[in-house]
Amino acid sequence: MRLGVLGGGQLARMMALAARPLGIDVTVIDPNVEAPARHVASHIVASLDDREALHQLAEQCDVVTIELEAVPPESLEHLQRLRPVYPSGEFVAMTQDRLSEKLGLRALNIATAPINDEVELPAIVKTRRGGYDGRGQRRVSTDAERDRALDELPDPIVEAIVDFRRELSIVAAADRHGRIACWPVATNTHRNGVLFTSQPHGDDPCQQQAEAIATALIRRYGVIGVCCVELFDTEHGLVANEVAPRVHNSGHWTIEGSTTSQFEQHVRAVCGLPLGLSDLRQPTAMINVIGQEPSLEHLLSIDGVHVHRYEKAPRAERKVGHVTITAATERQLVDRIRRTKAVIDS
Ligand code: AMP
Repeated sequence: MRLGVLGGGQLARMMALAARPLGIDVTVIDPNVEAPARHVASHIVASLDDREALHQLAEQCDVVTIELEAVPPESLEHLQRLRPVYPSGEFVAMTQDRLSEKLGLRALNIATAPINDEVELPAIVKTRRGGYDGRGQRRVSTDAERDRALDELPDPIVEAIVDFRRELSIVAAADRHGRIACWPVATNTHRNGVLFTSQPHGDDPCQQQAEAIATALIRRYGVIGVCCVELFDTEHGLVANEVAPRVHNSGHWTIEGSTTSQFEQHVRAVCGLPLGLSDLRQPTAMINVIGQEPSLEHLLSIDGVHVHRYEKAPRAERKVGHVTITAATERQLVDRIRRTKAVIDS
């Protein structure tokens, strides 16, 4: 069995690492010769809309998936005629545009931030397409600031600022038979708009509502594989912020923290294999390594630390790796998180 992946970043790399013990080979397409998946997968160096490369991928692989949502819809449509492709073009298209995403969520009675005419200032102006990690968005407090942002940001949408208690996300998987497995929700913190930490909770009061949201999306869009919904926990219940039609950074803790990682689960699902357990085995947290690589020696001197380097050139704001921390007790976890953050920040 060979799995094709559009995109060769760290998500494809971790998919390939999870596929290997199952005896499943992975081929990625990525224009970057230094794509993080290159060491662990076959790499076709080409852009994601290169027809010849897409044909080559289809010829080599039994099934095709994605590791990023910014894939050209025509490439997915083209591949769909040649091989099974998961997730569907319809689901990916819905998540590529913040407006269609919000309308799609609302059609399922899932709450989202008020948008455009519904919004009072202050607010956030975001580009509808292509923004990520807090890029392509601007907070505005006055009419003049809003009008300027609307002029300057391409294809903008205005969103009300949601008064949330915390940010969380649910990562879920569905197999080809419609069976669904959700991991415990994780609380997320950010630094400069980039995810910094994710910590799952086995008994989160929002678990049931988050699972209902993920399940409604999976059923409506016939999702096969892993997806994620980023949520705001508010006084009035959960409000959905973003949907990712793929494995997600806030699910990286599952590699060491769950019986089945999100990467293995995704590979199983798209390859027509049964899903595994999506539990939380022990107190676990994930911290992203952003910009600079910390000392490997210092990180590994902390018990319960698992290092994942993406072998990417360091650059400000760039995710170059992550660390998962596991512990026997919550107290021990808090102490190990503190020590790990000190190494990452030094
Ligand atoms: P996004 O690119 O939509 O995921 O936004 C990045 C981060 O900006 C989120 O994780 C939140 O911390 C913040 N944010 C985005 N949209 C809103 C909103 N409508 N209200 C409050 N904070 C937001």
